[in-house]
Amino acid sequence: MSVAPGPVDMILAKRAGKEHTAADLEAFLSGYVAGNVPDYQVSAWLMAVCWRGMTARETAALTLTMANSGDVLDLSALPNTVDKHSTGGVGDKTTLVLAPLLAAMGGTVAKMSGRGLGHTGGTVDKLESIPGFRAELTDDEFLAVARDVGVVVTGQSKDLAPADGLLYALRDATGTVESLPLIASSVMSKKLAGGAKSIVLDVKVGSGAFMKTVPDARALGEAMVSIGRHNGRNMRAVLSSMAQPLGHMVGNALEVEEAVACLRGEGPADLEELCLVLAQEVLEAAGLPATRAALHGAIGSGRAMERFEAWIRAQGGDVSGLGNLERAPDQWVLRAPRTGVVAAVQALAVGRAAGVLGGGRSRKGDAVDVGVGVELHAKVGDEVTANDGLATLWHRGGRGLEPARRLLEEAYEIADAATPEPLIIERGIGSSG
Ligand code: URA
Repeated sequence: MSVAPGPVDMILAKRAGKEHTAADLEAFLSGYVAGNVPDYQVSAWLMAVCWRGMTARETAALTLTMANSGDVLDLSALPNTVDKHSTGGVGDKTTLVLAPLLAAMGGTVAKMSGRGLGHTGGTVDKLESIPGFRAELTDDEFLAVARDVGVVVTGQSKDLAPADGLLYALRDATGTVESLPLIASSVMSKKLAGGAKSIVLDVKVGSGAFMKTVPDARALGEAMVSIGRHNGRNMRAVLSSMAQPLGHMVGNALEVEEAVACLRGEGPADLEELCLVLAQEVLEAAGLPATRAALHGAIGSGRAMERFEAWIRAQGGDVSGLGNLERAPDQWVLRAPRTGVVAAVQALAVGRAAGVLGGGRSRKGDAVDVGVGVELHAKVGDEVTANDGLATLWHRGGRGLEPARRLLEEAYEIADAATPEPLIIERGIGSSG
């Protein structure tokens, strides 16, 4: 019987560009999760992976090892389980719109969602800006809400893909986040453990995203689709632009309000378009009817909004104030320095502005101020006159206002002309397999 290579052998093998076997990866990572391999050795190995990459076989093996490192949800008793994952974007509140829309179309969304670490909160932070909303449910409550309402979203359990939780924290601290096999395996380990049968991935492209170019984003989408397929899931991926924030609102309560407007058929065109495309892709993958007309019907008839309210109520939330959640009390308005056309609204800078106002967290466990954020009045392609309001910062007593102002000023570029990039760059990745 061969002896599993030790941590130094694993680092040397990857440094030399060799392929690990599934058994060796499993032994190495289970040693790490058990506390027998120290952070510094795993960090060196991660850096070697960043430089040398991984084969598709290795990436699939790494994903499975991480997916099986903790609980794997069994959603088989629920009908048509569907899920969406976004690789992260500024102003991305699509889950809040998509989940009830999918439920209105016959899907079941039973989802665990991470709390945001970074500029703005995650989906759970946004939901917690609704008074009374409970993101922590028992397993029985989770399944009951999914069955009765068709939508449930909770904070991600520590027991779901714990190996990814450990590795992700280490990657964050060692400059090893941006690696295709590491991102693909991290995302897909949580999706496989999360149990949904049909999954759509929204891979963001642009300055505000992990993937800066279309070929890199496509490669990531294809890698994730392939991992899911090999594990029996119906997969689709979409590439969408993150050159500027999605919608007009960035910040927790502000984003819930915008999602509610979208469910009432009054949302910004880009947010609605992305939600409709993602819905169509995942419903098709699941074999459910998914015409544009049917999706518009689910919104126009109020059925999607009715599912949203039923979901929020089932998790303890008060729906009476939806659409008018409490915002931070103070405002500062960025004004156009000249007449022209908005040529850029840098997503990353806007996200960071919301973060320094208190809307995000830089360390696990930090409190998030759900009332602060950025409201964009002008987006790329909009004509503006000198002194028009471009954006409003919602702040609390000036906390973080100075850096947020500077970031917002840097984010906006006014020129004589501008052509907005298309929002949907590519869709249907995985539809022909
Ligand atoms: N999102 C994840 O879940 N993992 C990554 O590695 C990057 C983005």
